[in-house]
Amino acid sequence: MSSSRRLPVSIPDLRKQLSLQRPVRRRPVITLSQCLDAFQKILLALFILRYTRKTFIQLRGYGILGSVRQLYRDVYRRLYALFLRLPFVQAKVQAQVQKTVVELQEKLVPSGPGVTQYTALPASGWTGEQVRTELEKLGDMKHTQWEKGRVSGAVYHGGDELLTLQSEAFKRFGVANPIHPDVFPGVRKMEAEVVAMTLGLFNAPEGGAGVTTSGGTESIIMAVLAARQKAYHERSVREPEMILPDTAHTAFRKAAEYFKIKLHLVPCPAPSYKVQISTVSRLINSNTIILVGSAPNFPHGIVDDIPALSRLALKHKLPLHVDCCLGSFIIPFLARAGFPAPDFDFKVPGVTSISVDTHKYGFAPKGNSVVLYRSAALRRYQYYVCPDWAGGVYASPNMAGSRPGALIAGCWASLMKMGEDGYLSTCLQIVGAAKTIENRIRTSDALRHSIVVIGKPMVSVVAFTAISKPRDPFYALDIYDVADAMSARGWHLNALQDPAAIHVAVTVPIVAVVEELLKDLEEVVDSVRGNPTEKKGDAAALYGVAGALPDKSIVRELAEGFLDTLYKT
Ligand SMILES: *Cc1c(COP(=O)(O)O)cnc(C)c1O
Repeated sequence: MSSSRRLPVSIPDLRKQLSLQRPVRRRPVITLSQCLDAFQKILLALFILRYTRKTFIQLRGYGILGSVRQLYRDVYRRLYALFLRLPFVQAKVQAQVQKTVVELQEKLVPSGPGVTQYTALPASGWTGEQVRTELEKLGDMKHTQWEKGRVSGAVYHGGDELLTLQSEAFKRFGVANPIHPDVFPGVRKMEAEVVAMTLGLFNAPEGGAGVTTSGGTESIIMAVLAARQKAYHERSVREPEMILPDTAHTAFRKAAEYFKIKLHLVPCPAPSYKVQISTVSRLINSNTIILVGSAPNFPHGIVDDIPALSRLALKHKLPLHVDCCLGSFIIPFLARAGFPAPDFDFKVPGVTSISVDTHKYGFAPKGNSVVLYRSAALRRYQYYVCPDWAGGVYASPNMAGSRPGALIAGCWASLMKMGEDGYLSTCLQIVGAAKTIENRIRTSDALRHSIVVIGKPMVSVVAFTAISKPRDPFYALDIYDVADAMSARGWHLNALQDPAAIHVAVTVPIVAVVEELLKDLEEVVDSVRGNPTEKKGDAAALYGVAGALPDKSIVRELAEGFLDTLYKT
């Protein structure tokens, strides 16, 4: 057999045939490159749409002038931050920061021959007596005398009878953990009752619900989480935004940072120092998850216009949180005590959640707060459930896992011991004392030419600031000098910023010493006016010098140094 084979047709023939048989190739309607091109255009359009929308929202919220001002401030701040980072500036700044932190340590961390530091476990455990003796010493360490009413806020009651009762509750429920309601049924009952009593006090409607937490910060963080989850699940909001009075508690900013929520801070301008409603209204957009008002706020003790915020919330179908952490168990008693009382609770129809610190004017031990919701459905958004964990189905109502049942028992005991009449009476005393302070600042010849009360405080806090251009320059003073001079006399008042001011949060221990406080304030104002002190005190240094810089990185470093100091032995 021949290995050569002949093709039945010649190659040219074959070519011809093939080309004839090949279907006429139609040009595709869209080429790949056209496709990419169109895709690019769509992306570009989406991009432009997104930024046009953002720009529109920005301009509507802040106006052209406001936006330019924002941009200017931002650029200025960044340039200043760069300047601070120049090597020779940086070296100076660091040296100063270090010096301040060391001074702080000397104040806060005891040292010297008389002090024993315990940085390791004792090899064999102490006797009860040894522990007791050491606890006595620790309690007696040199401190600002809260017992004598020298501290603004901080210790809200501190009466012996209540303290004894609380420690008995601790002892009885020291091992209790509400995560095991079958093991500690009494704690579950008390927790539910604390929530129910608080709901009643804040006029919650039928179906209202709540949860106890470890403090005001957790209550606020939970309310913000619930709002974010609600917006996510019900409206698919993926880039949440929150509108906040700039006087609202920092816990909201903390929540925004933890949960990546964009913040809009709304000014609370003089003379009312309430949140500017028109600005809140302009800042609302489809990404807004919650509106916030304080009743009252921490810095100035001012109650925002909750009914106006409520109208906005209802119009835009948004949750409205009212922060009553500070107002706690005083603000609900204002009307009954005969003081002017704002509308602030669930009676205002748009209010959907309220934070209430039982550990402030509820006089419960520290570590107690409640967050209330208009409906149980809203409360569900703060729950955490893990159905498929190897450790079992896990469900918890708030941030913590295990929680101290002892604290709940202490809270329940405090509420029951105080009762309505007890809270009414402390409201009369505390708000009465705050009014005394306010009136004295407004009328006393020793004070009224130099300092002025901020807004119209309604509850327990009175804030005041220096009159910026007094009739006679003789009356001019630096308000931080007042804070430092009061500190030198053993008073711990709170320094505020933007505007520079100080406040007194009246508590039960302060009620007894209001006259003493006012007398000292009059003397201090007299001594610091006209002659600003040469050597600045702590408040003046922190707020007057470091705080005045446009970039806050130095303040941040000082604050971080302070936090580090807390863990030094
Ligand atoms: C104290 C306070 C809070 C936060 O409370 P913490 O218990 O300190 O976490 C929130 N809002 C206001 C107005 C407060 O005064």
